[in-house]
Amino acid sequence: MRHDWTKEEILDIYNKPLMDLLYEAATIHRAQHNANQVQVSTLLSIKTGGCPEDCGYCPQAARYHTNVEGNDLMSVQQVKAQALRAKSSGSSRVCMGAAWRNVKDGPEFDQVLEMVRTINKLDMEVCCTLGMITENQAHRLAEAGLYAYNHNLDSSEEYYKEVISTRGYQDRLDTIDNVRKTNVTVCSGGIIGMGESDEDRAGMLVALASLSPQPESTPINALVAVEGTPLEEQQPVSIWDMIRMVATTRIVMPQTQVRLSAGRTQMSREGQAMCFFAGANSIFAGDKLLTTPNPDVNEDMEMFKLLGLEPMKPFVKKSQPESVEAQYSKYKDEGEKPKWTRPEHKIERNEQAKAAAKKLKV
Ligand code: SF4
Repeated sequence: MRHDWTKEEILDIYNKPLMDLLYEAATIHRAQHNANQVQVSTLLSIKTGGCPEDCGYCPQAARYHTNVEGNDLMSVQQVKAQALRAKSSGSSRVCMGAAWRNVKDGPEFDQVLEMVRTINKLDMEVCCTLGMITENQAHRLAEAGLYAYNHNLDSSEEYYKEVISTRGYQDRLDTIDNVRKTNVTVCSGGIIGMGESDEDRAGMLVALASLSPQPESTPINALVAVEGTPLEEQQPVSIWDMIRMVATTRIVMPQTQVRLSAGRTQMSREGQAMCFFAGANSIFAGDKLLTTPNPDVNEDMEMFKLLGLEPMKPFVKKSQPESVEAQYSKYKDEGEKPKWTRPEHKIERNEQAKAAAKKLKV
């Protein structure tokens, strides 16, 4: 595992001809993971809005005038009900997000610890994203059974300052360091489409890949530009940039779970399929990602069926690649037929297309 990638090396990978980039990323992906398994997480906003921070992309910052309605901390029972619903629709992980700058010891943190214990009993992975935490708080979360802690680096160290002024890059790294002192896994990634350069994207990957160990999961978000935030005018990120970013992340962090996160509603199924081919092996499910829209879970399961993907089981640190021999013997046992059969894919033609086809006799 390399931790010494340079920005130049990563840029060279990111800018390769697309077919070469896809081939390299897919080869690494297949050597490290089962390419037909995708981990599914559900993100729950357990405390929404009113955040004192100034993250330029976030509609939950109190200082921006957005349509987000704030909510106090959810009850343990509410969280349990949502977790059960997520489990029944195929999620193996519940990620609880609270719009806090940092965790404060007291009744609210105790309530979060109880949520962690409750979801743990449902045999699901529990992740939290609560802002900055101390080493002691990380240990308390670990004792409650937390599986992962999310704390994104967001962008390169240089560009971070352009987006957030209320805390620094080192604060992010310190929290990740505190989590690393426990047995809780680290989830850390970033956002593209905030106006950053390709160099900044590479810089973020240098920072993530240099962590030792590298994060167990890395969300790659495409900015959802929300009205009322400083980044409201940003144009949607191109799918090609998303595919390149996913593939490059896979190459420099071969073992991490690369998660397609915010921005999936703007991506076609074909675009998402290319991301899976390029090494993405995790998604957020559910119709909302904290406060922004996300594809409906049924749509995702339909897409999985179409692509022959299956949701990963919980507590799998890393999906195991299947050897060629194992794949061959599986087909042999089943009369040399692949287990998965391609669902019929109908092309719906609209009236105009039907009329045009009739004229051309097709
Ligand atoms: S991203 Fe998190 S810390 Fe930043 S404003 Fe939003 S809720 Fe607060």
